[in-house]
This record gives sequence, structure tokens and C-alpha cells, in this order.
Amino acid sequence: MRILLLSDIHGNLEALEAALDAAPAYDRLINLGDVVGYGGSPNEVIQRVRDLGAINIRGNHDKACSGLSDLEDFNPIAALAAYWTRQVLTPENLEWLRALPEGPVRRRDIPGVQFVHGSPLDEDEYMIGVHDALESLVMSPVAITFFGHTHLQGGFSLQGGAAEEVRPGIGLSDAVARRNITLLPNTRYAINPGSVGQPRDGDWRAGFALFNTATNTITFYRIPYDIQSAQQRILDARLPERLAARLAVGR
Ligand code: ZN
Repeated sequence: MRILLLSDIHGNLEALEAALDAAPAYDRLINLGDVVGYGGSPNEVIQRVRDLGAINIRGNHDKACSGLSDLEDFNPIAALAAYWTRQVLTPENLEWLRALPEGPVRRRDIPGVQFVHGSPLDEDEYMIGVHDALESLVMSPVAITFFGHTHLQGGFSLQGGAAEEVRPGIGLSDAVARRNITLLPNTRYAINPGSVGQPRDGDWRAGFALFNTATNTITFYRIPYDIQSAQQRILDARLPERLAARLAVGR
């Protein structure tokens, strides 16, 4: 089975379309959360994800933008964007957002894998370093956890008590790039496919991944997209300029 993994699209339609255009054939599509927030095309992105029949997990911005959580934990810029998103979402899309399930999501048709936004222990927790991921790796009932939230492509492995970072090893450039890693037996993994709509690893290109269960490989992708249009939508919405500027530097 080929599982396409998208996370943290954040209302960036141009990045989503570029990612989908570049994506290989797949059998299941997973959205690991934060489909909206920050970007200027929340309704269009939700509609696209709905039409694609994705399996969804909710993110913290999905909760904030749909009024399920308040904006107190958000910095002022994120709160402003969440407030704007809440105002422009159609009633139908608002309802869809509110109904997204909390992770971890496990499915009978995809054994040995679970899907979360932050971590399996807490949907709002950031797994940035090995130490953040250790407890989740040790406690995990499955071999592979796919997560988002940090907007950093890559993740962590645990084998025989030794935890390590998993780095995709895609260098900076402005071209289409992809890189395979093969999963080792008797090893647990927590893997972030990267952020489609607002990467924060210093690489502006849209990030995502494909997990092939037959070959036990994960392919990480970085795809250039029409960043000027995505920025213009943010500016047209009168969202903070910083949200447009950060897309160009991948921070
Ligand atoms: Zn996010």
C-alpha cells in the first residue's frame, strides 16, 4: 500500500496543488492536521482535501480556527490569522473542521501505523528533538507513528534502546527533490512528512512524503511552488505581512 502523507497545509492552496501535482500514485491520503491557519485560502484548501477523500487528523490550528479552543495559547500573529480564518470559513467547512478526529488515529486497513498531529501522548505536544520523542517511541503500540505540528521534515528512530534522528538529507535548492529512506526491522519510528504550506526547516519548498508498505520505504519530497501567489493571497486578506515573508525563507 502506498500512503501519501500531507501535514500542516495551513491554507496554502498553491503549495497544496504543487504537492499534489508532484505526488506519485497512492492508495490512501492522510492529512495530519493544521489544514488551515496562517494561509490565505482556507476554504479552497478544505474543499480540496475533502474532495480527495483524505483520512484526517485535527491540528491545533484546526481547533482554534473552528472555535473548539480559544486563542490564548497562540502568539498574536497566529491568533489574528486564526480569527480571520474563523470569519471567512463557510458554515459547512467550519462544521467539517470541528468534526475532525483527535489523534492518534489507527486504522484496521493500515496495520502497524498510527497518525497524530503533535505526539501520540498529546495532540498539542511538539516533538522537535529526540528527547521529546523518546517517551512516545517507547510507549508506542505500533512500529511507525506519523506526526506533524513541528513543520520539520524528518523524525526519530528507536532501536535496541538507542534513539536517533532521522534526517531526509535533502539539500537546499530551488528544484524538485526527493529522497528515499528504507525502514529497518525491529525499529520504531516517528516520522514527520514535512509541512506542505509553511515549512520551518529553512527550505521554502512544500514538503510531504510517501510511505510504501510493500518496500518499507519512505520517500521525502520537496517541491517548488508559486510562492508569490500564496503571499499575495495573505496580503490581500490583510493578514500580517510577516506570514507572507516567512514563506520565502522557510521559517
Ligand atoms: Zn502547523
